[in-house]
Amino acid sequence: MFGACCCRSESNLVCNSLCCVLVVVNISVQLRMTSVTPLRLVSRLFKPVSPVRTITLAYVTKQCDKGSTETYNSSYEPDIGNLYTEEHLSLRKTVRKIIDKDINPHVDEWEAAGEFPIRELFKKLGNAGILGVNMPQEFGGLGLDWSYSLAVAEELGYINCGSIPMAIGVQTEMSTQALAKFGSDELRKQFLAPAVAGDMIASIGVSELSAGSDVAAIKTQAVRKGDDYVINGSKMWITNGLKADWMCMLANTGSGPVHKNKSLIIVPLNTKGIERVKIDKLGMDCSDTAQIFFEDVRVPISYCIGEENHGFLYQMQQFQLERLFASGSLIIGLETIIKETAEYCSQRKAFGYPLINNQIIHYTLAELQTEVEALRALTYRAVARYIRGEDVTYLASMCKLKVGRLARQVTDSCLQYWGGMGYTKEVKVSRMYRDFRLVSIGGGADEVMLGIICKYMETLPTVK
Ligand SMILES: Cc1cc2nc3c(=O)[nH]c(=O)nc-3n(C[C@H](O)[C@H](O)[C@H](O)COP(=O)(O)OP(=O)(O)OC[C@H]3O[C@@H](n4cnc5c(N)ncnc54)[C@H](O)[C@@H]3O)c2cc1C
Repeated sequence: MFGACCCRSESNLVCNSLCCVLVVVNISVQLRMTSVTPLRLVSRLFKPVSPVRTITLAYVTKQCDKGSTETYNSSYEPDIGNLYTEEHLSLRKTVRKIIDKDINPHVDEWEAAGEFPIRELFKKLGNAGILGVNMPQEFGGLGLDWSYSLAVAEELGYINCGSIPMAIGVQTEMSTQALAKFGSDELRKQFLAPAVAGDMIASIGVSELSAGSDVAAIKTQAVRKGDDYVINGSKMWITNGLKADWMCMLANTGSGPVHKNKSLIIVPLNTKGIERVKIDKLGMDCSDTAQIFFEDVRVPISYCIGEENHGFLYQMQQFQLERLFASGSLIIGLETIIKETAEYCSQRKAFGYPLINNQIIHYTLAELQTEVEALRALTYRAVARYIRGEDVTYLASMCKLKVGRLARQVTDSCLQYWGGMGYTKEVKVSRMYRDFRLVSIGGGADEVMLGIICKYMETLPTVK
Protein backbone atom coordinates (compact mmCIF):
# COMPACT_ATOMS: atom_id res chain seq x y z
CA MET A 1 0.00 0.00 0.00
CA PHE A 2 2.73 2.28 -0.70
CA GLY A 3 4.58 5.03 -2.23
CA ALA A 4 2.50 8.05 -2.72
CA CYS A 5 2.23 10.48 -5.51
CA CYS A 6 2.64 14.02 -6.56
CA CYS A 7 -0.99 15.09 -6.43
CA ARG A 8 -0.65 17.89 -8.94
CA SER A 9 0.68 15.67 -11.65
CA GLU A 10 -0.77 12.26 -10.90
CA SER A 11 -4.34 12.83 -11.93
CA ASN A 12 -3.48 14.38 -15.28
CA LEU A 13 -1.03 11.70 -16.24
CA VAL A 14 -3.31 8.90 -15.22
CA CYS A 15 -6.27 10.47 -16.92
CA ASN A 16 -4.43 10.57 -20.20
CA SER A 17 -3.40 6.99 -20.14
CA LEU A 18 -5.42 4.85 -17.81
CA CYS A 19 -8.54 5.00 -19.93
CA CYS A 20 -6.85 2.59 -22.30
CA VAL A 21 -6.04 -0.04 -19.68
CA LEU A 22 -8.50 -2.86 -20.05
CA VAL A 23 -8.50 -5.86 -17.81
CA VAL A 24 -9.11 -9.02 -19.75
CA VAL A 25 -12.13 -10.98 -18.63
CA ASN A 26 -11.56 -14.64 -19.23
CA ILE A 27 -14.66 -16.72 -19.53
CA SER A 28 -13.31 -20.20 -19.39
CA VAL A 29 -10.61 -20.36 -16.79
CA GLN A 30 -10.36 -23.31 -14.46
CA LEU A 31 -9.02 -22.31 -11.07
CA ARG A 32 -6.04 -24.28 -9.88
CA MET A 33 -7.76 -25.39 -6.72
CA THR A 34 -8.51 -28.77 -5.43
CA SER A 35 -10.60 -27.93 -2.41
CA VAL A 36 -13.31 -26.06 -4.25
CA THR A 37 -15.93 -27.03 -6.80
CA PRO A 38 -14.49 -26.22 -10.24
CA LEU A 39 -15.56 -22.76 -11.13
CA ARG A 40 -17.54 -21.81 -14.17
CA LEU A 41 -16.16 -18.35 -14.54
CA VAL A 42 -18.47 -16.26 -16.56
CA SER A 43 -17.97 -12.61 -17.32
CA ARG A 44 -20.95 -10.44 -16.67
CA LEU A 45 -21.87 -7.36 -18.57
CA PHE A 46 -23.24 -4.47 -16.64
CA LYS A 47 -26.52 -3.64 -18.28
CA PRO A 48 -27.45 -0.02 -18.93
CA VAL A 49 -30.31 1.38 -16.92
CA SER A 50 -33.11 2.96 -18.93
CA PRO A 51 -34.26 5.58 -19.62
CA VAL A 52 -31.00 6.95 -20.96
CA ARG A 53 -29.89 10.17 -19.34
CA THR A 54 -26.49 11.68 -19.84
CA ILE A 55 -25.13 14.20 -17.41
CA THR A 56 -21.85 15.96 -17.56
CA LEU A 57 -20.55 16.71 -14.10
CA ALA A 58 -17.87 19.27 -13.46
CA TYR A 59 -15.88 16.96 -11.26
CA VAL A 60 -15.87 13.99 -13.58
CA THR A 61 -15.78 15.91 -16.82
CA LYS A 62 -12.11 16.62 -16.72
CA GLN A 63 -10.04 18.55 -19.17
CA CYS A 64 -7.06 16.32 -19.66
CA ASP A 65 -3.62 17.48 -20.78
CA LYS A 66 -4.46 16.85 -24.40
CA GLY A 67 -7.70 18.75 -24.07
CA SER A 68 -10.01 15.73 -24.30
CA THR A 69 -13.22 15.74 -22.29
CA GLU A 70 -14.55 12.69 -20.48
CA THR A 71 -18.28 12.49 -20.10
CA TYR A 72 -19.95 10.80 -17.19
CA ASN A 73 -22.90 8.90 -18.55
CA SER A 74 -25.36 7.84 -15.90
CA SER A 75 -26.98 5.38 -18.28
CA TYR A 76 -23.88 3.24 -18.00
CA GLU A 77 -23.74 3.18 -14.23
CA PRO A 78 -22.66 -0.36 -13.39
CA ASP A 79 -24.87 -2.48 -11.18
CA ILE A 80 -22.73 -2.67 -8.07
CA GLY A 81 -25.34 -4.70 -6.23
CA ASN A 82 -24.52 -7.48 -8.65
CA LEU A 83 -20.73 -7.43 -8.49
CA TYR A 84 -20.28 -10.92 -7.06
CA THR A 85 -21.45 -14.18 -8.61
CA GLU A 86 -21.33 -17.75 -7.27
CA GLU A 87 -17.81 -17.96 -8.72
CA HIS A 88 -16.64 -15.00 -6.67
CA LEU A 89 -18.13 -16.58 -3.57
CA SER A 90 -16.36 -19.89 -4.30
CA LEU A 91 -13.09 -18.03 -4.65
CA ARG A 92 -13.73 -16.33 -1.32
CA LYS A 93 -14.38 -19.70 0.30
CA THR A 94 -11.02 -20.96 -0.91
CA VAL A 95 -9.28 -17.92 0.56
CA ARG A 96 -11.19 -18.37 3.82
CA LYS A 97 -10.11 -22.00 4.13
CA ILE A 98 -6.46 -21.00 3.88
CA ILE A 99 -6.99 -18.20 6.41
CA ASP A 100 -8.73 -20.49 8.91
CA LYS A 101 -6.27 -23.37 8.53
CA ASP A 102 -2.90 -21.86 7.68
CA ILE A 103 -2.96 -18.25 8.88
CA ASN A 104 -5.19 -17.28 11.80
CA PRO A 105 -4.12 -20.09 14.16
CA HIS A 106 -0.53 -18.76 13.94
CA VAL A 107 -0.99 -15.00 13.78
CA ASP A 108 -0.38 -14.30 17.49
CA GLU A 109 2.83 -16.30 17.42
CA TRP A 110 4.01 -14.58 14.22
CA GLU A 111 3.17 -11.14 15.60
CA ALA A 112 5.19 -11.86 18.75
CA ALA A 113 8.11 -13.12 16.64
CA GLY A 114 7.97 -10.04 14.39
CA GLU A 115 7.84 -12.12 11.22
CA PHE A 116 5.81 -14.76 9.43
CA PRO A 117 6.91 -17.59 7.11
CA ILE A 118 6.21 -15.63 3.96
CA ARG A 119 7.80 -18.16 1.60
CA GLU A 120 5.72 -21.11 2.82
CA LEU A 121 2.53 -19.08 2.96
CA PHE A 122 3.01 -17.55 -0.49
CA LYS A 123 3.62 -21.01 -1.94
CA LYS A 124 0.28 -22.18 -0.54
CA LEU A 125 -1.48 -19.11 -1.89
CA GLY A 126 0.30 -19.51 -5.23
CA ASN A 127 -0.80 -23.14 -5.48
CA ALA A 128 -4.39 -22.05 -4.92
CA GLY A 129 -4.17 -19.39 -7.65
CA ILE A 130 -4.64 -16.54 -5.17
CA LEU A 131 -1.44 -14.68 -6.12
CA GLY A 132 -2.41 -14.35 -9.78
CA VAL A 133 -6.15 -13.78 -9.85
CA ASN A 134 -5.97 -10.96 -12.41
CA MET A 135 -2.67 -11.99 -13.99
CA PRO A 136 -2.35 -13.28 -17.56
CA GLN A 137 -2.83 -17.02 -17.93
CA GLU A 138 0.34 -17.44 -19.98
CA PHE A 139 2.29 -16.48 -16.87
CA GLY A 140 0.35 -18.71 -14.52
CA GLY A 141 -2.45 -16.31 -13.57
CA LEU A 142 -6.18 -16.92 -13.63
CA GLY A 143 -6.80 -14.10 -16.11
CA LEU A 144 -9.86 -12.83 -14.26
CA ASP A 145 -11.13 -9.31 -13.97
CA TRP A 146 -10.48 -7.19 -10.89
CA SER A 147 -13.85 -7.92 -9.28
CA TYR A 148 -12.34 -11.32 -8.41
CA SER A 149 -9.33 -9.58 -6.88
CA LEU A 150 -11.71 -7.46 -4.84
CA ALA A 151 -13.42 -10.64 -3.65
CA VAL A 152 -10.04 -11.96 -2.49
CA ALA A 153 -9.07 -8.62 -0.92
CA GLU A 154 -12.33 -8.52 1.05
CA GLU A 155 -11.87 -12.04 2.33
CA LEU A 156 -8.32 -11.24 3.46
CA GLY A 157 -10.04 -8.93 5.96
CA TYR A 158 -10.71 -12.03 8.07
CA ILE A 159 -6.99 -12.30 8.85
CA ASN A 160 -6.37 -11.30 12.45
CA CYS A 161 -3.70 -8.71 11.67
CA GLY A 162 -2.91 -6.08 9.06
CA SER A 163 0.56 -7.33 8.13
CA ILE A 164 -0.34 -10.41 6.13
CA PRO A 165 -3.04 -8.88 3.90
CA MET A 166 -0.56 -6.05 3.26
CA ALA A 167 2.23 -8.47 2.27
CA ILE A 168 -0.15 -10.28 -0.10
CA GLY A 169 -1.39 -7.01 -1.59
CA VAL A 170 2.19 -5.87 -2.21
CA GLN A 171 2.79 -9.09 -4.14
CA THR A 172 -0.43 -9.14 -6.16
CA GLU A 173 -1.41 -5.51 -6.77
CA MET A 174 1.47 -3.20 -5.92
CA SER A 175 4.69 -4.74 -7.30
CA THR A 176 3.53 -6.84 -10.23
CA GLN A 177 0.82 -4.90 -12.05
CA ALA A 178 3.10 -2.73 -14.20
CA LEU A 179 5.25 -5.75 -14.98
CA ALA A 180 2.17 -7.72 -16.06
CA LYS A 181 0.88 -4.92 -18.29
CA PHE A 182 4.03 -3.45 -19.76
CA GLY A 183 6.89 -5.92 -19.15
CA SER A 184 8.51 -7.93 -21.96
CA ASP A 185 7.61 -11.62 -22.21
CA GLU A 186 11.12 -12.53 -21.11
CA LEU A 187 10.86 -10.33 -18.01
CA ARG A 188 7.41 -11.66 -17.18
CA LYS A 189 8.63 -15.23 -17.56
CA GLN A 190 11.59 -14.58 -15.30
CA PHE A 191 9.90 -12.53 -12.55
CA LEU A 192 6.11 -12.46 -12.91
CA ALA A 193 5.44 -16.18 -13.34
CA PRO A 194 7.41 -17.15 -10.19
CA ALA A 195 5.67 -14.38 -8.20
CA VAL A 196 2.28 -15.68 -9.31
CA ALA A 197 3.29 -19.23 -8.40
CA GLY A 198 4.50 -18.13 -4.97
CA ASP A 199 8.11 -19.08 -5.72
CA MET A 200 9.43 -15.51 -5.58
CA ILE A 201 8.62 -12.65 -3.21
CA ALA A 202 8.18 -9.22 -4.76
CA SER A 203 8.49 -5.72 -3.33
CA ILE A 204 7.77 -2.21 -4.56
CA GLY A 205 10.46 0.44 -4.22
CA VAL A 206 9.12 3.93 -4.71
CA SER A 207 9.56 5.82 -1.42
CA GLU A 208 12.88 7.23 -0.26
CA LEU A 209 13.99 8.91 2.94
CA SER A 210 13.59 12.34 1.36
CA ALA A 211 10.70 11.57 -1.02
CA GLY A 212 7.48 9.84 0.03
CA SER A 213 4.45 11.96 -0.82
CA ASP A 214 6.41 13.75 -3.52
CA VAL A 215 7.30 10.78 -5.71
CA ALA A 216 8.71 12.96 -8.48
CA ALA A 217 11.47 14.05 -6.07
CA ILE A 218 13.14 10.62 -5.75
CA LYS A 219 16.93 10.67 -6.01
CA THR A 220 17.91 7.06 -6.83
CA GLN A 221 19.71 6.95 -10.17
CA ALA A 222 20.02 4.15 -12.71
CA VAL A 223 22.69 5.15 -15.20
CA ARG A 224 23.29 3.22 -18.43
CA LYS A 225 26.76 1.65 -18.71
CA GLY A 226 27.06 -0.73 -21.66
CA ASP A 227 24.21 -3.23 -21.45
CA ASP A 228 23.59 -2.54 -17.77
CA TYR A 229 22.08 0.04 -15.49
CA VAL A 230 24.31 1.01 -12.58
CA ILE A 231 22.06 1.90 -9.65
CA ASN A 232 22.95 4.16 -6.74
CA GLY A 233 20.64 5.39 -4.02
CA SER A 234 18.31 3.98 -1.39
CA LYS A 235 14.67 3.04 -0.86
CA MET A 236 12.76 3.49 2.38
CA TRP A 237 9.84 1.66 4.03
CA ILE A 238 9.99 -1.35 1.74
CA THR A 239 7.34 -3.92 2.70
CA ASN A 240 8.55 -7.54 2.30
CA GLY A 241 11.93 -5.81 1.88
CA LEU A 242 14.09 -8.14 3.97
CA LYS A 243 12.86 -11.33 2.35
CA ALA A 244 11.92 -10.17 -1.14
CA ASP A 245 13.65 -11.74 -4.14
CA TRP A 246 13.17 -8.69 -6.33
CA MET A 247 12.04 -5.10 -6.26
CA CYS A 248 10.02 -3.19 -8.80
CA MET A 249 12.08 -0.01 -8.42
CA LEU A 250 11.28 3.51 -9.56
CA ALA A 251 14.57 5.21 -10.46
CA ASN A 252 15.75 8.23 -12.41
CA THR A 253 17.03 7.17 -15.81
CA GLY A 254 16.87 10.38 -17.82
CA SER A 255 17.53 14.08 -17.70
CA GLY A 256 14.10 15.31 -18.80
CA PRO A 257 11.27 16.76 -16.70
CA VAL A 258 10.65 14.91 -13.41
CA HIS A 259 7.60 13.03 -14.70
CA LYS A 260 9.37 11.89 -17.85
CA ASN A 261 12.79 10.87 -16.55
CA LYS A 262 11.97 7.80 -14.47
CA SER A 263 11.77 4.09 -15.19
CA LEU A 264 10.44 1.04 -13.40
CA ILE A 265 13.23 -1.51 -13.21
CA ILE A 266 13.21 -5.04 -11.84
CA VAL A 267 16.11 -5.32 -9.40
CA PRO A 268 16.96 -8.82 -8.06
CA LEU A 269 17.73 -8.20 -4.40
CA ASN A 270 20.53 -10.75 -4.16
CA THR A 271 22.64 -8.59 -6.47
CA LYS A 272 26.05 -7.36 -5.30
CA GLY A 273 26.01 -3.89 -3.72
CA ILE A 274 22.66 -4.18 -1.90
CA GLU A 275 22.27 -3.81 1.86
CA ARG A 276 18.97 -4.22 3.72
CA VAL A 277 18.21 -2.83 7.18
CA LYS A 278 15.10 -3.71 9.20
CA ILE A 279 12.84 -0.86 10.38
CA ASP A 280 10.97 -1.12 13.71
CA LYS A 281 7.43 0.17 13.56
CA LEU A 282 4.42 1.16 15.66
CA GLY A 283 2.33 -1.70 14.29
CA MET A 284 2.16 -4.25 11.48
CA ASP A 285 4.44 -6.28 13.75
CA CYS A 286 4.98 -9.38 11.61
CA SER A 287 5.38 -7.39 8.40
CA ASP A 288 8.95 -7.04 7.30
CA THR A 289 9.79 -3.42 6.47
CA ALA A 290 13.26 -2.42 5.32
CA GLN A 291 15.44 0.41 4.20
CA ILE A 292 17.48 -0.80 1.24
CA PHE A 293 20.75 0.72 0.02
CA PHE A 294 22.10 0.35 -3.53
CA GLU A 295 25.74 0.98 -4.31
CA ASP A 296 26.91 0.45 -7.89
CA VAL A 297 24.29 -2.27 -8.36
CA ARG A 298 24.29 -3.59 -11.93
CA VAL A 299 21.18 -4.94 -13.63
CA PRO A 300 20.67 -5.52 -17.36
CA ILE A 301 18.93 -2.75 -19.30
CA SER A 302 16.43 -5.39 -20.40
CA TYR A 303 15.09 -5.40 -16.81
CA CYS A 304 13.40 -2.06 -17.48
CA ILE A 305 9.60 -2.47 -17.55
CA GLY A 306 8.10 -1.16 -20.78
CA GLU A 307 9.60 2.00 -22.18
CA GLU A 308 12.48 3.77 -20.50
CA ASN A 309 11.48 7.08 -18.85
CA HIS A 310 7.77 6.07 -18.77
CA GLY A 311 8.09 4.71 -15.21
CA PHE A 312 6.37 7.57 -13.43
CA LEU A 313 3.28 7.09 -15.54
CA TYR A 314 3.28 3.30 -15.07
CA GLN A 315 3.64 3.77 -11.32
CA MET A 316 0.74 6.21 -11.17
CA GLN A 317 -1.41 3.52 -12.77
CA GLN A 318 -0.10 0.89 -10.38
CA PHE A 319 -1.12 3.13 -7.46
CA GLN A 320 -4.80 2.91 -8.43
CA LEU A 321 -5.00 -0.81 -7.70
CA GLU A 322 -2.97 -0.35 -4.54
CA ARG A 323 -5.65 2.08 -3.36
CA LEU A 324 -8.57 -0.13 -4.32
CA PHE A 325 -6.88 -3.06 -2.59
CA ALA A 326 -6.36 -1.00 0.58
CA SER A 327 -10.02 -0.10 0.59
CA GLY A 328 -11.36 -3.59 -0.16
CA SER A 329 -9.10 -5.42 2.25
CA LEU A 330 -10.13 -3.40 5.31
CA ILE A 331 -13.91 -3.62 5.03
CA ILE A 332 -14.32 -6.91 6.87
CA GLY A 333 -11.62 -6.12 9.42
CA LEU A 334 -13.49 -2.95 10.38
CA GLU A 335 -16.82 -4.77 10.54
CA THR A 336 -15.28 -7.43 12.76
CA ILE A 337 -14.00 -4.85 15.22
CA ILE A 338 -17.45 -3.24 15.43
CA LYS A 339 -19.09 -6.66 15.92
CA GLU A 340 -16.63 -7.78 18.59
CA THR A 341 -17.02 -4.46 20.39
CA ALA A 342 -20.80 -4.86 20.39
CA GLU A 343 -20.44 -8.37 21.82
CA TYR A 344 -18.00 -7.23 24.49
CA CYS A 345 -20.22 -4.31 25.48
CA SER A 346 -23.21 -6.65 25.73
CA GLN A 347 -21.39 -8.76 28.30
CA ARG A 348 -19.50 -6.10 30.21
CA LYS A 349 -21.53 -4.38 32.90
CA ALA A 350 -21.05 -0.99 34.55
CA PHE A 351 -23.48 0.72 36.93
CA GLY A 352 -25.56 -2.49 37.00
CA TYR A 353 -26.34 -2.89 33.30
CA PRO A 354 -24.49 -3.83 30.08
CA LEU A 355 -22.37 -1.12 28.49
CA ILE A 356 -24.21 -1.58 25.20
CA ASN A 357 -27.38 -0.20 26.84
CA ASN A 358 -25.80 3.24 26.83
CA GLN A 359 -27.24 5.02 23.85
CA ILE A 360 -23.95 6.69 23.03
CA ILE A 361 -22.41 3.24 22.55
CA HIS A 362 -25.05 1.50 20.47
CA TYR A 363 -25.64 4.62 18.39
CA THR A 364 -21.92 5.06 17.76
CA LEU A 365 -21.57 1.45 16.65
CA ALA A 366 -24.57 1.85 14.33
CA GLU A 367 -23.00 4.98 12.88
CA LEU A 368 -19.68 3.25 12.31
CA GLN A 369 -21.36 0.26 10.66
CA THR A 370 -23.18 2.66 8.33
CA GLU A 371 -19.88 4.24 7.39
CA VAL A 372 -18.38 0.84 6.60
CA GLU A 373 -21.34 0.04 4.34
CA ALA A 374 -20.77 3.37 2.59
CA LEU A 375 -17.11 2.46 2.11
CA ARG A 376 -18.14 -0.90 0.65
CA ALA A 377 -20.53 0.77 -1.80
CA LEU A 378 -17.90 3.28 -2.89
CA THR A 379 -15.31 0.55 -3.34
CA TYR A 380 -17.65 -1.66 -5.38
CA ARG A 381 -18.55 1.29 -7.57
CA ALA A 382 -14.92 2.12 -8.24
CA VAL A 383 -14.11 -1.50 -9.04
CA ALA A 384 -17.14 -1.90 -11.31
CA ARG A 385 -15.95 1.10 -13.28
CA TYR A 386 -12.35 -0.11 -13.32
CA ILE A 387 -13.24 -3.47 -14.82
CA ARG A 388 -15.03 -1.63 -17.62
CA GLY A 389 -11.74 0.05 -18.46
CA GLU A 390 -12.50 3.48 -17.02
CA ASP A 391 -10.07 5.85 -15.34
CA VAL A 392 -10.92 5.47 -11.64
CA THR A 393 -8.29 7.81 -10.22
CA TYR A 394 -11.00 10.03 -8.75
CA LEU A 395 -12.97 7.21 -7.10
CA ALA A 396 -9.90 5.19 -6.06
CA SER A 397 -8.52 8.30 -4.32
CA MET A 398 -11.82 8.69 -2.48
CA CYS A 399 -11.74 5.01 -1.48
CA LYS A 400 -8.23 5.39 -0.12
CA LEU A 401 -9.10 8.60 1.75
CA LYS A 402 -12.28 7.13 3.19
CA VAL A 403 -10.72 3.83 4.29
CA GLY A 404 -7.82 5.62 6.00
CA ARG A 405 -10.11 8.00 7.85
CA LEU A 406 -12.60 5.28 8.78
CA ALA A 407 -9.90 2.89 9.97
CA ARG A 408 -8.83 5.53 12.47
CA GLN A 409 -12.39 6.35 13.50
CA VAL A 410 -13.52 2.74 13.98
CA THR A 411 -10.45 1.52 15.85
CA ASP A 412 -10.24 4.58 18.08
CA SER A 413 -13.97 4.63 18.95
CA CYS A 414 -14.16 0.88 19.56
CA LEU A 415 -10.96 0.74 21.61
CA GLN A 416 -12.51 3.30 23.94
CA TYR A 417 -15.44 0.99 24.74
CA TRP A 418 -13.09 -1.84 25.70
CA GLY A 419 -11.78 0.35 28.51
CA GLY A 420 -8.50 -0.86 30.04
CA MET A 421 -8.74 -4.11 28.07
CA GLY A 422 -8.54 -2.08 24.89
CA TYR A 423 -5.17 -0.78 26.01
CA THR A 424 -3.68 -4.28 26.30
CA LYS A 425 -2.17 -6.49 23.64
CA GLU A 426 -4.67 -9.22 24.56
CA VAL A 427 -7.42 -7.99 22.27
CA LYS A 428 -7.67 -7.60 18.53
CA VAL A 429 -8.91 -4.03 18.66
CA SER A 430 -5.57 -2.75 19.98
CA ARG A 431 -3.63 -4.56 17.23
CA MET A 432 -5.90 -3.14 14.57
CA TYR A 433 -5.66 0.33 16.16
CA ARG A 434 -1.90 0.16 15.56
CA ASP A 435 -1.94 -1.69 12.24
CA PHE A 436 -4.68 0.30 10.54
CA ARG A 437 -3.14 3.65 11.54
CA LEU A 438 -0.81 3.13 8.59
CA VAL A 439 -3.62 3.37 6.06
CA SER A 440 -3.88 7.17 6.27
CA ILE A 441 -0.14 7.45 5.57
CA GLY A 442 1.04 4.63 3.26
CA GLY A 443 0.10 4.44 -0.40
CA GLY A 444 -0.51 8.18 -0.55
CA ALA A 445 -1.36 10.12 2.61
CA ASP A 446 -4.89 11.42 3.17
CA GLU A 447 -3.79 14.92 2.21
CA VAL A 448 -2.37 13.68 -1.08
CA MET A 449 -5.69 11.95 -1.83
CA LEU A 450 -7.53 15.19 -1.03
CA GLY A 451 -5.27 16.99 -3.50
CA ILE A 452 -6.17 14.53 -6.28
CA ILE A 453 -9.89 14.75 -5.52
CA CYS A 454 -9.67 18.56 -5.56
CA LYS A 455 -7.93 18.37 -8.91
CA TYR A 456 -10.87 16.41 -10.31
CA MET A 457 -13.32 18.81 -8.70
CA GLU A 458 -11.35 21.62 -10.33
CA THR A 459 -10.97 23.38 -6.99
CA LEU A 460 -7.22 22.97 -6.57
CA PRO A 461 -5.50 26.36 -6.83
CA THR A 462 -2.94 26.39 -9.62
CA VAL A 463 0.62 27.31 -8.73
CA LYS A 464 1.90 30.16 -10.89
C1 LIG B 1 4.84 0.41 7.30
C2 LIG B 1 5.07 1.11 5.99
C3 LIG B 1 5.20 0.36 4.84
C4 LIG B 1 5.48 0.98 3.63
N1 LIG B 1 5.71 0.22 2.50
C5 LIG B 1 6.17 0.82 1.38
C6 LIG B 1 6.60 0.03 0.26
O1 LIG B 1 6.51 -1.20 0.26
N2 LIG B 1 7.10 0.68 -0.82
C7 LIG B 1 7.19 2.04 -0.89
O2 LIG B 1 7.63 2.56 -1.90
N3 LIG B 1 6.78 2.82 0.15
C8 LIG B 1 6.29 2.23 1.28
N4 LIG B 1 5.88 3.01 2.35
C9 LIG B 1 6.02 4.46 2.26
C10 LIG B 1 4.72 5.26 2.29
O3 LIG B 1 4.04 5.18 1.09
C11 LIG B 1 5.09 6.69 2.65
O4 LIG B 1 5.40 6.68 4.02
C12 LIG B 1 3.99 7.68 2.35
O5 LIG B 1 3.86 7.85 0.95
C13 LIG B 1 4.28 9.05 2.97
O6 LIG B 1 5.56 9.48 2.63
P1 LIG B 1 6.54 10.00 3.79
O7 LIG B 1 6.56 9.00 4.87
O8 LIG B 1 7.82 10.37 3.18
O9 LIG B 1 5.81 11.29 4.36
P2 LIG B 1 6.00 12.79 3.84
O10 LIG B 1 5.97 12.85 2.37
O11 LIG B 1 7.17 13.38 4.55
O12 LIG B 1 4.66 13.45 4.38
C14 LIG B 1 4.45 13.56 5.79
C15 LIG B 1 3.02 14.00 6.00
O13 LIG B 1 2.85 15.28 5.47
C16 LIG B 1 1.52 15.43 5.02
N5 LIG B 1 1.52 15.84 3.60
C17 LIG B 1 2.24 15.32 2.58
N6 LIG B 1 1.95 15.93 1.43
C18 LIG B 1 1.02 16.88 1.73
C19 LIG B 1 0.30 17.85 0.97
N7 LIG B 1 0.47 17.96 -0.35
N8 LIG B 1 -0.58 18.64 1.62
C20 LIG B 1 -0.77 18.53 2.96
N9 LIG B 1 -0.13 17.63 3.72
C21 LIG B 1 0.75 16.82 3.11
C22 LIG B 1 0.83 14.08 5.19
O14 LIG B 1 0.08 14.09 6.38
C23 LIG B 1 1.98 13.12 5.32
O15 LIG B 1 1.63 11.97 6.11
C24 LIG B 1 5.56 2.40 3.56
C25 LIG B 1 5.40 3.15 4.72
C26 LIG B 1 5.19 2.54 5.93
C27 LIG B 1 5.07 3.38 7.17
